[in-house]
Amino acid sequence: MKPAAFTYLAPRTIDEALSQLADAGGDARILAGGQSLVPAMAYRLAQPSILVDVNGLTDAPPLAEEDGRLEIGPLVRHQDLRRLSPQRPLGALLSSMAEKVGPWPVRCRGTFCGSLAQADPASEWALAVVALDVNLTLESRQDGPRSVPASEFFAGVMATTAREDEMMTAATIAELPGATRWGFSEFGRRTGDYATVLALALYELKGGRMTRVRIATGGAEAVPRRLSEVEEALEGSAPSKPRFLQAAELAAEIIDPLEDYQADALYRRDLVRSMVLRALQQTTR
Ligand SMILES: Cc1cc2nc3c(=O)[nH]c(=O)nc-3n(C[C@H](O)[C@H](O)[C@H](O)COP(=O)(O)OP(=O)(O)OC[C@H]3O[C@@H](n4cnc5c(N)ncnc54)[C@H](O)[C@@H]3O)c2cc1C
Repeated sequence: MKPAAFTYLAPRTIDEALSQLADAGGDARILAGGQSLVPAMAYRLAQPSILVDVNGLTDAPPLAEEDGRLEIGPLVRHQDLRRLSPQRPLGALLSSMAEKVGPWPVRCRGTFCGSLAQADPASEWALAVVALDVNLTLESRQDGPRSVPASEFFAGVMATTAREDEMMTAATIAELPGATRWGFSEFGRRTGDYATVLALALYELKGGRMTRVRIATGGAEAVPRRLSEVEEALEGSAPSKPRFLQAAELAAEIIDPLEDYQADALYRRDLVRSMVLRALQQTTR
C-alpha cells in the first residue's frame, strides 16, 4: 500500500512547527525519524492530512551535558546516545541501552523523543525515562512549555497524555551519582526487534548496602513502570543472590501482564522474573 495523500510542511523553527500544529486542529502529525510513523502511514494505519517534518529545525536543542544534567532535544537519534561517554554511570547506561534499540539503520534515523511519543510499552527509552524520573518538556503555541514527569506521560499502549498540538522539545535527565550500580536486561525473539520484556535495576551502594533502589519493567504491562514493592523489599539490604531471587519472584507476582501474540500472561511473568533477576545480577559485575 501507499500512504494516503497529505500536505508536507517543513518548519525551520520550533515556533513555526508549533503554529503549524495548532493551525491543523489535531489533523497533523510530527515527522521525526519516521521509523514508526512512515510504516504506519504506508499501511494506512495512520492517515494524517498534514505532516510537520521537524528534521530541518534550526533551533532544536542538541544533546548536551551540563550542570549535572543531560538534555536530549527532539532530533537526537538513538545512535547519538550510543556515543555517550561510558566513564559516568548515566552515559554507560544509556549507551548500553541504545545498542538494543532496533537494527542499526533504525538507530541512525529514529529519535529519542519520537520513541517516547510513540509510547510502545517495550521501548527502551520509555523504560529508561520512567526508571530515571525524567522530566519531559512539551510545548504548544497556546500554552508554551510545560514539564511532565515521565511517570505521568504514558497513558496506555501507544497512548500518551500529550495533546495533539504539543511537541516534545526536550527530555532532561539528572546525572547519576558515581556510586550508582545499574543493570539492564531484555528478551526479544530476534535481534533488532522490539523486546518482549525489559528490566532495569539501579541503586547506590553505600556501606555495602543498596539505597535509592529503582526497579522498572517495560513490555510487561501496558506502560513501563517502577515496581515500588520490589524497590522497598531491596532497600537497605546488601546485594546478594538470595535477595535478588526474592525480588525477581516478587516482580513476577505483582505485575499485571499484557497478553498478545508474542506472549501470554504466564510467559510474560516468567520473563519478568528472569529479566529482573538478570538486571540485578548485572549490578554486581
Ligand atoms: C525494524 C524496526 C525495529 C525497531 N525496534 C525498536 C526497538 O527495539 N526498540 C524501540 O524502542 N524502538 C524500535 N523501533 C522504533 C524506533 O525506535 C522509532 O525510531 C521510534 O519508535 C520512533 O521514533 P522516530 O523518531 O522514528 O519517530 P516517527 O516515526 O517520526 O514518529 C513516531 C510518532 O511520534 C510522534 N513524534 C515524533 N517526534 C515527536 C516529538 N518531538 N514530539 C511529539 N511527537 C513526536 C510522531 O508524530 C508519531 O506519532 C523499531 C523500528 C523499526 C522499523
